Amino acid sequence: MKKLLFFCLLPGGLFAQNTLIHCGTLIDGVANEAKSQMTIVVEKNKIIGIEKGYKSAKSGEKVIDLKSKTVMPGLIDCHVHLESETRRGGAIDRFTLNPADIAFESTRNAKNTLLAGFTTVRDLGGSGVNVALRNAINKGLVVGPRIYTSGKSIATTGGHADPTNAYRKDLMGDPGPLEGVVNSKEDARKAVRQRYKDGSDLIKITATGGVLSLASNSQNPQFTEDEIRGIVETAQDYGFTVAAHAHGAEGMKRAIRAGVTSVEHGTYMDDEAIALFKKHGTYLVPTILAGKTVADSARIMGYYTLVQARKALEVGPKIQSMFAKAYKEGVKIAFGTDSGVSIHGVNAKEFEYMVEAGMPAMEAIKAATASASDLLRIKEQIGTIETGKMADIVATSENPLQNIKTMMNVKFVMKDGVVYKNE
Ligand SMILES: [Zn+2]
Repeated sequence: MKKLLFFCLLPGGLFAQNTLIHCGTLIDGVANEAKSQMTIVVEKNKIIGIEKGYKSAKSGEKVIDLKSKTVMPGLIDCHVHLESETRRGGAIDRFTLNPADIAFESTRNAKNTLLAGFTTVRDLGGSGVNVALRNAINKGLVVGPRIYTSGKSIATTGGHADPTNAYRKDLMGDPGPLEGVVNSKEDARKAVRQRYKDGSDLIKITATGGVLSLASNSQNPQFTEDEIRGIVETAQDYGFTVAAHAHGAEGMKRAIRAGVTSVEHGTYMDDEAIALFKKHGTYLVPTILAGKTVADSARIMGYYTLVQARKALEVGPKIQSMFAKAYKEGVKIAFGTDSGVSIHGVNAKEFEYMVEAGMPAMEAIKAATASASDLLRIKEQIGTIETGKMADIVATSENPLQNIKTMMNVKFVMKDGVVYKNE
């Protein structure tokens, strides 16, 4: 009792200890130029001020010295799968792993993602364990990024996210909206409502074939436009955005016309698709890292099944040049990697590929901060270093505007005002 009284009598009270972050270089996610010698003032989990120069600490204030570093908003990856991570022969995992196995693995993936500077992610599909992972992180039981999850993706029968593709006939059954498989507008509505009931934050559909599913085609359209409309209209009732996986152009166009919020991958985007992206303001989440990773892994004998390897070599190498064109044509871009397809924690490799394809480093960083928070519809809370935003702050040892590779070397991570890394 006496002790409590003592603290309460301190000037400003027990909880008023602000943190001053001295930033050698600051990229705030708003300005087009970096600023030098700045101070960010953090109170609890909020940024309450940004001041020129290195503000000195008053009594009770704490200083974090990042004078030799470049400070940025916490990074946002708009496309990850935290439940799993690529490995040789991993196609068998869905037959052998129980939800608890997946859960334990996912905690490692979540931690590696956060420590790489990604303070927020969109998890675009898993078994549903990703919803529990989000909750565990929010409760402080597990270390990881802030997660917005789609739960289980929605597909059509035999589609990219049909969970029983290539099963033996007697095990295959006939999955429906509960398992995320739909074949009508009515099913589509039910599947979205089921995701709401499951606790998802958004909806993911697989509008075309994909690379790592055990099905023959990587590009065919797999929903009617009407089915996608059923998804999008119902999603709007629940305040959900809709992310559409699409490699082939036809499925991509149906998804954009039906009103999805983002297209993932976008590999075979043609001029008509580009025009639709711009007309509807749809975001592209390019995932160049996934394309490069699957193409590399497919060359290792036995890493994938034969059908996966064939599709990986077909699709993977095309993504970076598609991105270069989409960027040049003015398609809106948000950063995303499909990590899980690559190992977790190297998400920032995507920055190098974006810059290599012609996007200036500052724009690539904005794609992973301000634009990504806009896609997630949380730009009032995160995505920039501004007064009133949550204290999600990272730092690299070099200036990424001079050397983009430094994004792979994040030295400081603060999420929600808590420091997770300070090297
Ligand atoms: Zn994915």
